[in-house]
Amino acid sequence: MPLTVRQFPCLSDNYGFLLRDEASGAVATVDTPDAERILSELSDSGWGRLDYVLNTHWHPDHAGGNARLKAETGCTVLGPEEVRRIEAPLDRVLAGGETVMLGETAFRVLATPGHTLGHIAYVSDSDGMAFVGDTLFALGCGRLFEGTAEQMWASLQTLAALPPQTRVYCAHEYTESNARFALSVDAAPLTAERAEQVFEARRRGDWTVPTTIAAERAANPFLRAPALALPGETDAAAFARLRAAKDSFKG
Ligand code: ZN
Ligand code: FE
Repeated sequence: MPLTVRQFPCLSDNYGFLLRDEASGAVATVDTPDAERILSELSDSGWGRLDYVLNTHWHPDHAGGNARLKAETGCTVLGPEEVRRIEAPLDRVLAGGETVMLGETAFRVLATPGHTLGHIAYVSDSDGMAFVGDTLFALGCGRLFEGTAEQMWASLQTLAALPPQTRVYCAHEYTESNARFALSVDAAPLTAERAEQVFEARRRGDWTVPTTIAAERAANPFLRAPALALPGETDAAAFARLRAAKDSFKG
């Protein structure tokens, strides 16, 4: 039986995701941007329980609600060791290559360092869903706070290799500014088309998350680093140049 995803905005530009394994009724939250908001969504959902927190990385807008949610619901917190840096509760340390079960739904844990060194993503192959935290965004990618450009490029390639129809649940609604940057570095018609769709969606107030691996491979300038490379530039160097340009982009 499938997984149901309940997505909702949190804080200024985060998304919260509550996941329910329909076979068992088990419920998880991906990250804990805002404990109050997650608890109120949980109550609106009628799902009646919270079994797990699945953290992607240690940043407070991802793990800052762990303690409150654990105290309120008794849930088990899973995530990378680095979550302990903010003294957030963590019951089981996860690393790339492991599998975690939410009822009958299996999530593969992928190591996706770059934004932070311990960053992980969760993939349900059977549902074709990937929860990627701050690694891959719609038309963008996370900032390199801790890792190197080479690490982030490898992480993005790991995600890009997922099946094209995979739905990608990014942790932030950054797409409009990402689209402006994409237009500044990539003249491909598909990029212009996608950017226009994004601007229209945001004018209507629609979310641009989830996206898909196919859509990102087609128009995300960071995944398109090889196509945007200068003569003689390696793919990782092209990625590093694009990421640095985005950091100083005033769009
Ligand atoms: Zn972050
Ligand atoms: Fe974040």
